[in-house]
Amino acid sequence: MTYRDTQKVLVTGGAGFLGSHLCDRLVDAGADVLCLDNLYTGTKKNVAHLHDRTNFEFVRHDVTMPLYVEIDRIFNLACPASPIHYQYDPVQTTKTSVHGAINMLGLAKRLRARILQASTSEVYGDPEVHPQKEEYWGRVNPIGIRSCYDEGKRCAETLFFDYRRQHNLEIKVVRIFNTYGPRMNPHDGRVVSNFIVQALKGEDITIYGDGSQTRSFCYVDDLIEAMLRMMDTRADFTGPVNIGNPGEFTMLELAEKILSLVGSTSKIVYQPLPQDDPRQRQPDISLAKSELDWQPKVSLEDGLKETISYFKRLLQA
Ligand code: NAD
Ligand code: UDP
Ligand code: UDP
Repeated sequence: MTYRDTQKVLVTGGAGFLGSHLCDRLVDAGADVLCLDNLYTGTKKNVAHLHDRTNFEFVRHDVTMPLYVEIDRIFNLACPASPIHYQYDPVQTTKTSVHGAINMLGLAKRLRARILQASTSEVYGDPEVHPQKEEYWGRVNPIGIRSCYDEGKRCAETLFFDYRRQHNLEIKVVRIFNTYGPRMNPHDGRVVSNFIVQALKGEDITIYGDGSQTRSFCYVDDLIEAMLRMMDTRADFTGPVNIGNPGEFTMLELAEKILSLVGSTSKIVYQPLPQDDPRQRQPDISLAKSELDWQPKVSLEDGLKETISYFKRLLQA
């Protein structure tokens, strides 16, 4: 992938975990990057190293407000992603997904810009089909505590496809499965960051429920590569495409792996399972393999080592 410096790329949520890695790749590829973020869960520290690059610019803005800029491509990532953060102000979470999508689609429509939506495996809810394929419509509770996120993201997908049908926009939708790596927010309560920080500090490892629920974890570099490839696919390919690592682990297995990699003596404790917590999740990535010629390369063990080093540095700072 190479971008011309005349190609202006907007990354909403660009100061977040995934957005900042995407900005890194785009800046290195030579694009003129506009990183937009309201810094709700992201931080300027995530992109501080890019400020001396002439092809990088940061703007503090909320995607629920209209935005008039001139750009060629949009990666729409703005939205808190961890349950603690998206449940803190659920109305704002839905607004961010829905109003944010409308504004970014309106912007794309005015400029005839290609636009990619960072959707989520949460659109499948607590699935009764395993592993999940893109054709599966999902099993989502519309009125539960996760609904602001799940239904907000589902509605955003609807808007993307209606803007395509109604206004012939070039849209791309990726459904991201659990992703981890450096620059995860240590306070956002996600399982990988929680377990690593707890193991490094010698605190109890908090498993919710009995630890038999499963997740599939993708390392951030693999994920960003797939997003970039998706943006470059032929005009009539819209997705949705699952992106994730099909390796499936129970939370107990994850805890044990992290304890052994950190060499920690923390003990495992069991706490109540949050409401509507999906039992299992694993992507079927055949579509990504065939359309993007992509599959994850980083093993859970290697990815965790990188992430552990990051959190070690963060805790020492
Ligand atoms: P994150 O919380 O680190 O990043 C989200 C960014 O969006 C933050 O920088 C936040 O400040 C910003 N933001 C939130 N509301 C905003 C608003 N109204 N206006 C402007 N900026 C706003 O989370 P992440 O893990 O980097 O997730 C990025 C995107 O990928 C999200 O859309 C998320 O739903 C999606 N996703 C992530 C995962 C994952 O495992 N990390 C899985 C599925 C989907
Ligand atoms: N919008 C924006 N930037 C633009 C164009 C539109 O933020 O460059 C927003 C604007 O707030 C509008 C929304 O996108 O409400 C949807 O735009 P669209 O043109 O689809 O709908 P309309 O303006 O007709 O409601
Ligand atoms: N989880 C856990 N301990 C923690 C944090 C999370 O056991 O300290 C569990 C959580 O209940 C869920 C899984 O780990 O079953 C993944 O949680 P996360 O919030 O990272 O992602 P999501 O539920 O959105 O997939």
